[in-house]
Amino acid sequence: MQAIVSGLLDLIAPHRCAACDRASDMEGWVLCRPCDALVERHDSTGAVFEYGGPVAAAIRRFKYEGRSELGRALGAQMAEEALVWAGRVDGVVPVPLHWRRRRARGYDQAALLAKPVARALEAPAWFRCLHRIRNTPSQVNLPHAARLQNVQGAFQSRALAGSPRLLLVDDVRTTGATLAAAADALRAAGAGDVQALVLAVRVLGRAT
Ligand SMILES: [Zn+2]
Repeated sequence: MQAIVSGLLDLIAPHRCAACDRASDMEGWVLCRPCDALVERHDSTGAVFEYGGPVAAAIRRFKYEGRSELGRALGAQMAEEALVWAGRVDGVVPVPLHWRRRRARGYDQAALLAKPVARALEAPAWFRCLHRIRNTPSQVNLPHAARLQNVQGAFQSRALAGSPRLLLVDDVRTTGATLAAAADALRAAGAGDVQALVLAVRVLGRAT
């Protein structure tokens, strides 16, 4: 019920900060001015933000507090980033949750982020292309080598004809192990070039 009410409020007053939920005069930007002053933009391609502070708060609300509607605004920010460097792609592929986790959450956050990105790039979003065939434990507290092992072989893609050029979309990148495993599965299935775009990069060793 609360999610429905806040969803309706967002329709009436669309410029609300994704991190603190206050009304914001920053049109076309996902954060309000005070929150925006606290975030670090990621300075190389493939990500919008560095993880932490208001960005971590926004992602928490989006993923764990049922605020699926934030995907539209957060994805729009990713779309702007993608337009700068992604070029022409044949498909936008969200990194999928395992179906058990999607069922528990009620939505798949990467799929919601992929929609605005696909629209901006005028490419189809391929929601049923990639599957997570193993329900891997959370990566958050694993060291790098364990992360690689944790996700190896976790994904499977349907066969892809014509070496399509793809853009993978996910919410957070830490070591890149998940994206690498997903890209491997797409290439094994026949994808050509596979690029990756995330909302935020978690910089290891930095307090969040
Ligand atoms: Zn704010």
